[in-house]
Amino acid sequence: MVQGAFRIFPLLGFILLFFIPPLSSAQDAPLFRQSRILMGTSVEITVSRVDPKTAEKAVEAAFQEVERINRLMSHYRPDSEVSQISRHAGKKEVRVSPETREVIERALYFSRLSGGAFDITIGPVFRLWNFREGKIPDGEKLRENLKRVDYRRIRVDRSRSTVYLDDPRMELDLGAIAKGYAVDRAGEVLKKRGVENFLVNAGGDLRVGGRKEKEIPWTVGIQHPRLPSDFIAKIQSKNAGIATSGDYEKYFLKDGERYHHILVPSSGLPARECQSVTILAPTAMDADALATTVFVLGPKKGSALIEEMPNVHALIVDRRGSVLFSPEWPAGVLLPP
Ligand code: ADP
Ligand code: MG
Repeated sequence: MVQGAFRIFPLLGFILLFFIPPLSSAQDAPLFRQSRILMGTSVEITVSRVDPKTAEKAVEAAFQEVERINRLMSHYRPDSEVSQISRHAGKKEVRVSPETREVIERALYFSRLSGGAFDITIGPVFRLWNFREGKIPDGEKLRENLKRVDYRRIRVDRSRSTVYLDDPRMELDLGAIAKGYAVDRAGEVLKKRGVENFLVNAGGDLRVGGRKEKEIPWTVGIQHPRLPSDFIAKIQSKNAGIATSGDYEKYFLKDGERYHHILVPSSGLPARECQSVTILAPTAMDADALATTVFVLGPKKGSALIEEMPNVHALIVDRRGSVLFSPEWPAGVLLPP
C-alpha cells in the first residue's frame, strides 16, 4: 500500500520537518555562478569556497563537458552518435564511444526494471507530438509508430562497443537520461579541477557536491507543479543527483485535459498518475531516468520500485496534488507553512 509505505502530506498545512539554516548567512558565501543555454535548457553552475581564477576556469571546462555530451547524445544533432545509430537502424551496427554505450545500457537497465515504462526508443512516437502548437497526434499514425517502440530491439555489443536497432524505423531519444549524465560529467570535471563544492543545474536535473558553506549544505527548491513561483519543498543534500520530471514543463491544455511530454511507451499518450516526481540518487543520470520512470509508473508501482533501490529516494506529487515522501527520505526538507 502506498499509504503505508509513503508518508502523505496534503499540499495545505505543511509542517517543518527539519531545520534549514537561515539564508542570510548563506548569502555571505563567496559564490561564483554562471549560466548558459545548452542541451535545450538553461544550465547553471554555482561553485563555492574556491579562488575566482580556479572557479572561472573550472566552470568553463564544465560547460564544455556538457556541450561535449550533447554532441555525442543529442538526437536533435544529425552528427551525434545517437543520430547515427538511428540513421543506420535495421542496416548496420554503429560503433560508439564507451560513454554513449554506457548511457544506453543504463537506460536499458531502467527499461527492464520498470517493464518498459522507461523506453529510449520512444522517438517515433514522441516526434508526433507538437506541444508548442498544442496538437494531438492522429490516432492511426500513433498506432503505426507505436510498433517501432520497443527497448528489447536495441542490441548492444559491449566488447565491440556497438549499438544496433533491429527495425529500420526505430529512433533513439535519450531526452530522459542524457541531461543527467551530462550534469554528472560536469561535476566530475569540476572536482578534477579542485572544485569540491558545487551545484550544477540543467533545467531541473542537478548534481550537488560538497557544501555551500562549511556548515551549510546546498538547498534545492522543488517547484510546485501548479504554482510556478512556489516550492513544494526545499531539499538539502550533499554529493547526490536530484532530478524532477513534471507535467508542467512542456504541455498544452485541450478540452480540460493536460497533454505533456512524459509518455507511456505502450500507448504513446501522456502519463496520467503524477504531477511531478523528484528523485534523489547517487548520480544525476539515475535520478533523471528514474524521475521519468516513476512518473510513468505512477505513485504505487513507482514507490515500490524506489523502495527496492538502495540510496534512492522519491518525492511524488500525485494527480490530486498530494505529496508523498519515500519513508527513509534522508535529506533535510523544508515544507511551506
Ligand atoms: P525533462 O526533459 O523535462 O527533464 P524528463 O527527464 O522526464 O523531462 O524527460 C522527458 C523526455 O524524455 C521527453 O522530452 C522525451 O524526449 C523523453 N521521454 C518521454 N517519455 C519517455 C519514456 N516513457 N521513457 C523514456 N524517455 C521518455
Ligand atoms: Mg528524466
